[in-house]
This record gives sequence, C-alpha cells and structure tokens, in this order.
Amino acid sequence: MTDTCIYEVLARATAVCFDVDSTLIRLEGIDRLAKVCGVGEEVEKITKTAMSGNMNFKEALGMRLNIIKPTLNKVKQLVEEDLSDIDNVLTPHVKELVDLLHSRGISVYVISGGFRRLIEPITNNLRIEKKNLYCNALLFNEAGEYEGFDLDQLTCQDGGKSLVMRDIKKKHEYVVMIGDGMTDLQASPPADAFIGFGGNVVRSRVKELSNWYVHDMQELIEAIELQRRTQTYSDSDEESHSPSSTSSASNLDDTQQKRLLAECD
Ligand SMILES: [Mg+2]
Repeated sequence: MTDTCIYEVLARATAVCFDVDSTLIRLEGIDRLAKVCGVGEEVEKITKTAMSGNMNFKEALGMRLNIIKPTLNKVKQLVEEDLSDIDNVLTPHVKELVDLLHSRGISVYVISGGFRRLIEPITNNLRIEKKNLYCNALLFNEAGEYEGFDLDQLTCQDGGKSLVMRDIKKKHEYVVMIGDGMTDLQASPPADAFIGFGGNVVRSRVKELSNWYVHDMQELIEAIELQRRTQTYSDSDEESHSPSSTSSASNLDDTQQKRLLAECD
C-alpha cells in the first residue's frame, strides 16, 4: 500500500481498532500478570511461541493461565501499579493519537486477547467507551481464586479478532486495524486496512504482511494531520466550506477515492 493509499484509508475511516498488548501498552499483559504471580519466565516463553502464530490461541491462553493461577488480589495489585505509572505503561504518543481520532469523530475500538479487569482501567484512562472494548474475562470464585476464563468470548477463539471485526464492520464502512501480532493481522480483512505497529516489538511476518508498518504512533498522528491540512487547503482553494468538509471524509470525490483505494489492493 502506498502512502497515498494509507492516507486515503485513514481519511475515510470511521472506526480505528487497536490491539492492546505491545500496541496500546508497551508490554504483554499476561506476562506482567505472570511476573506479579512469580511465574514470569515460564509464561513469557509460551507467549512468544503464541505470538509467532505457532499455537492455537485458546490453548495457549489456557495453558498460561493454568500456570499463573492469578488471584483477584494479584490482578488488583497489577491494576494499581499500572495506574500509578500510566505514562510508562502506555505506548508513547498513543494517548495523543486516541484523542485526535476522537476529536475527528472517529470511533475508537479495542480488540484484545487480554483481560477486561486489566484493560478497562487503561481504556478508561484513554476515554475509550466501554462498549467498544472486546476482550476476555477472568473468572474467580468467592474467595477470589482463579476459576478459569469465559470461553464464550469471541476474543478467546482462534481467529477471534476477525469475528469481532466482522461485527464492527456492520456499523462502519471503513475500518482500520492497528496491532503488532499475527492475531491482529487476521482481523484484516474484514478490516479495510492493517497498520502493523513495531514500536514495542517487531514481528517480521507481521511487518511483511502489513499494508503499512510504523514504529511510532506519532507517524499516524502526522498522517492524519497532514490529511487534514491538505483537506483544509483544498477546501479554501475552492472557496467553499461544506459542513462535511471537516468530517473524516476525504476531499477527493467518490470516483477518485475508489481509484486510489483500488490501487491499494
Ligand atoms: Mg499485541
């Protein structure tokens, strides 16, 4: 995909979906949970294999949780640690990017194989709506001991992100997925474009298959700002300001947009 194409897709997107681990945040949530529970190294090895796409997702998740056996107290401890150090937990420039998307009326979604109890405090901090968060749920008994995870969530299934994306696509015509892993890549299609993110970890296969690959969220901020400036210039050039000219729609007419998007294939 050329830069022009990705600008066009970003310009037309009414929704942008983010992965969480190593994308919205710097590290892998399950590895952090394992570390807090004293089994960090063992679990990290399985995560690396799973992230390379060499293991069934649900199997890898269950295997790691059975080693970690996280208690509710440990989960709460990790959330407290995260929130007290949120600027270091978040990937640099991600907050500015999410704010910019919101300010442009673009819906922001989160699709993660991680856990709601860990993710929701972070997405709350980013002012992402709860209803736009798709992720897994840990189950505890009354004593706060680990009892498994909710097997009904789409996000714990193999190809689960693709299934979630299919739902999101029913509400939005143009959707961009941003992530670092193979499971994120599986969401595009149905997503219209996939932006690989290598700011925290670079996965060579993901880099190779992405429509566009960035190492810094700032690159996306600049692309959106550039598109907006181009649009403003074009609008003032024509000495007309239609109400839709400041929306996420491109300044190009439909035929031009279709041609550019076709070039992206
Ligand atoms: Mg990830």
